[in-house]
Amino acid sequence: MSLFKRLFNAVRSGSVSNEEWDEIRSTLISADLGVNLVNEVITQAKLANPADAKQSITTVIGQWLSTKDRRLVKNSDRVSTILIVGVNGTGKTTSTAKLANLIKNDQKTVLLAAADTFRAAAVDQLQTWAKRIGIEVVSGTANGDPAAVAYSAITEAKSGNYEYLIVDTAGRLHTKENLMQELGKIIRVIEKHSPVDEILLVLDATTGQNGINQAKVFIDATGVTGFILTKLDGSAKGGVSLALEKEFGLPIKFIGTGEQLADLAPFEPEQYLLSLFE
Ligand code: GDP
Repeated sequence: MSLFKRLFNAVRSGSVSNEEWDEIRSTLISADLGVNLVNEVITQAKLANPADAKQSITTVIGQWLSTKDRRLVKNSDRVSTILIVGVNGTGKTTSTAKLANLIKNDQKTVLLAAADTFRAAAVDQLQTWAKRIGIEVVSGTANGDPAAVAYSAITEAKSGNYEYLIVDTAGRLHTKENLMQELGKIIRVIEKHSPVDEILLVLDATTGQNGINQAKVFIDATGVTGFILTKLDGSAKGGVSLALEKEFGLPIKFIGTGEQLADLAPFEPEQYLLSLFE
């Protein structure tokens, strides 16, 4: 991603002109880091000892990362329920399938719920993925009540002793009130039977600052526990990962790097920090 390579080289050189600082500043802003974080890192970089450039910059940005647990919930005595939320087009349904595939590859049982009943294609899409993975999907009627699907799914997950239930929810662009109502109802229905353990918000890394705005709405409306950041294989400039974690203090749990089932991986902060200087 090389986000900080130029900054690092400049600090290491020991002499940076004002013009060069301005150029570095614009490059970082255009990489979706956000003005506040850019100012912060440049202020610290100006104070850094050239011999110590990488360590100084890594220390600053390392402090922006979330300190919360990045591992996916895992209960040994009951089903672990994960809600996947986010705006349409961010990669919610694809990420739901990819996550189920990761869980299945880890030798765990997983059931899917197609609660995005407003988009017929989403249900078909999830069924196609599930067939490929070799797992079951609970779905309802088109335009039906997503909470009814959630009810059937948690009932089946419990009676079938599944280890995981992943619920793909509708992602229409919402007002906060609508969102709270819709997701709130799904959560209440599930929680009558078993706790909802994770609410993962899917964000498209290529949308930059817009993703941060979406995150604000969803975090205010529901108890988001972490992010799935998709499309990092595309034209994503990389700064949004840092901006998200610093702004909300929540961890990116997984990153999506393509359209295939295997293109989802846990987010590794150490590796990520190193990649920023490569
Ligand atoms: P949803 O509306 O949020 O459920 O989004 P979809 O799962 O239908 O995905 C929207 C589009 O983004 C599809 O064409 C996916 O193949 C694509 N997509 C999802 N995740 C990724 C990713 O990590 N990388 C790339 N390049 N494309 C992705």
